[in-house]
Amino acid sequence: MENKYWKKLSHKEQDTRITAALKINIDYQEKLPLGIPVSKLDPNVFYEQASFLNEAPLLRTYVQNPNHIGCHTLGNSEPFFNGTQELEREVIELLSVDLLKADDLSCDGYIAAGGTEANIQAAWIYRNYFIEQFSAGIEEIALLSSEDTHYSVTKAANLLNLRSYSADVNDETRTIIEESLDAEIKKAMKAGIKYFIVFSNMATTMFGSVDDPDVYAACLSKNEVAFKIHIDGAFGGFIYPVSCPDNTINFSNPNVSSITLDAHKMLQAPYGTGIFIVRKGLMHYVLTKEARYVSGMDITLSGSRSGTNAVAVWMILFTYGPYGWYEKISKLLYRTKWLCKQLDAENINYYRHPDLNIVAIRAKHIPHVLAEKYGMVPDSHTENPEWYKIVLMDHVEVDYLMEFMEELKAANQRVDI
Ligand SMILES: *Cc1c(COP(=O)(O)O)cnc(C)c1O
Repeated sequence: MENKYWKKLSHKEQDTRITAALKINIDYQEKLPLGIPVSKLDPNVFYEQASFLNEAPLLRTYVQNPNHIGCHTLGNSEPFFNGTQELEREVIELLSVDLLKADDLSCDGYIAAGGTEANIQAAWIYRNYFIEQFSAGIEEIALLSSEDTHYSVTKAANLLNLRSYSADVNDETRTIIEESLDAEIKKAMKAGIKYFIVFSNMATTMFGSVDDPDVYAACLSKNEVAFKIHIDGAFGGFIYPVSCPDNTINFSNPNVSSITLDAHKMLQAPYGTGIFIVRKGLMHYVLTKEARYVSGMDITLSGSRSGTNAVAVWMILFTYGPYGWYEKISKLLYRTKWLCKQLDAENINYYRHPDLNIVAIRAKHIPHVLAEKYGMVPDSHTENPEWYKIVLMDHVEVDYLMEFMEELKAANQRVDI
């Protein structure tokens, strides 16, 4: 692992950086801006002199309440919060270059409300790109993904008034069936679609399966239609690049234009830390020209957003450093392997991608009460589930899995499940 920006910093070093960043941000004690409807948190409610704040740079940021409205990797930004915006820029550059193999300063990005927002941002950019660059009509643009894709893509289609098409996956391997993909593309073309916005998964929510974006690219090229590919790495973005370092689902692949990551999943960051990263030259397609009162450009789906979230992501990345993070992922993968070995021994049918920490077990092996007791998540809450998944997180220890296995074994030895 060659890392240019990503390293480990001690708590003290982090505190120094964050303190300096907060100093650069506007200090409401020293300077009283008259025109902006922002302030630090209400001191009548959030007591600023609390002694524990001295030890907690993140909470101090929270109390100062920086607004990171807009995107800070291009153009100007609101000058009042330059200090913490710099930390957000650092996070985006670190993730683009060290995790996702982009060239230096070749990407833009921002910390969004979540994976949903980041995915919608991608669809919004490409829809406008096709309209502006190709004079496409809205009825000529469609979203394309697989049946295992997260429902936020359907949300994006609905919001942006685009049709969506979905390829089937193999029931066992969860990989896209190329004949089905080709048939969906041809069906769309017949309905007048000429431009495709692809959502390719870097780990699906239910299975942890990983799509090959080149399969989409090859099939669309063969059909001679224009396309843009977005990678949904909301679940897998902080795992797969680490567990499978030679993969090409990143900016080294010319087919990939943008990527979603979610720091509030595997990274255990506070909610509100989806991450959107896109090659330079694309963000401006969603510029809202009317946003004149905001300094710089408003080119993000959300307006005002908390700068504290950026600082939280920054802190997590620099607390672990690349090797610490690799160790954490390795531990989770070890547990996943352990579980799979137990399931194999009991002839229990499941799906698992070898580089990910999700195990989806066929529902026929899982009595409902067991799924409830262990908080397993079904693929459907409305119909009879076909699968129940286990996500091997930090708190899912082998001792607990052992208990689960004992009960599962006992249930599967009874005939009446
Ligand atoms: C969780 C998830 C999302 C949505 O992310 P939110 O942060 O909940 O908005 C999108 N795609 C995938 C693959 C996910 O796992």
